[in-house]
Amino acid sequence: MKNIVIFGAPGAGKGTQSDFIVEHYGLTHVSTGDLLRKEIADQTELGKRIKSIMDEGRLVSDDIVVEMMDKAIAADTKGMLFDGFPRTVAQAETLDRLLAKHGRELTCMVQLEVPREELIRRLLERAKIQGRADDNEQTIANRLDEYNNKTLPVANYYAGQGKQKLIDGLGSIEDIAARVRAAIG
Ligand code: ADP
Repeated sequence: MKNIVIFGAPGAGKGTQSDFIVEHYGLTHVSTGDLLRKEIADQTELGKRIKSIMDEGRLVSDDIVVEMMDKAIAADTKGMLFDGFPRTVAQAETLDRLLAKHGRELTCMVQLEVPREELIRRLLERAKIQGRADDNEQTIANRLDEYNNKTLPVANYYAGQGKQKLIDGLGSIEDIAARVRAAIG
């Protein structure tokens, strides 16, 4: 059973490549961003608490996402693709613990590498098409800052475990998908 983390900056193409990975390996896709946006759309108590944080492009607290992931892992039987999680080293350590609790282990982390100018170009393009609340210039800058400060250290965490697979995230969607499959095996 495979349990994989898809990793990269906002706009790196995690969501797009996630669709191919879950299809190819028969995994359950869990996106923390999607789960959190659903809480906001449903206007739950949690949704009300996190709305302004997400609108500003800041990370929501580790406890909130960890609780969501704990439930998602407990409900799964197929193996999982984690998208948007872990985003801090504390979350990465917790993921190892949660997987171990269920007799599982992380297979690998797939990191999509895309230069900053291209990330900004893609996010502004998506802003025009999808109108996501956090796709505007100031929020994009905040998200890239959060990524550089809090999330990039997660890459070293997995490199230290020998689980990091670096993928060139530039090119056609199909070419990148082929690179990802080759890296996962
Ligand atoms: P993107 O990768 O395009 O920035 P996501 O949909 O993965 O978007 O996440 C959107 C927002 O949801 C983040 O900016 C953050 O506020 C929140 N979020 C998602 N995942 C996490 C996480 N693991 N820890 C903290 N906050 C998160």
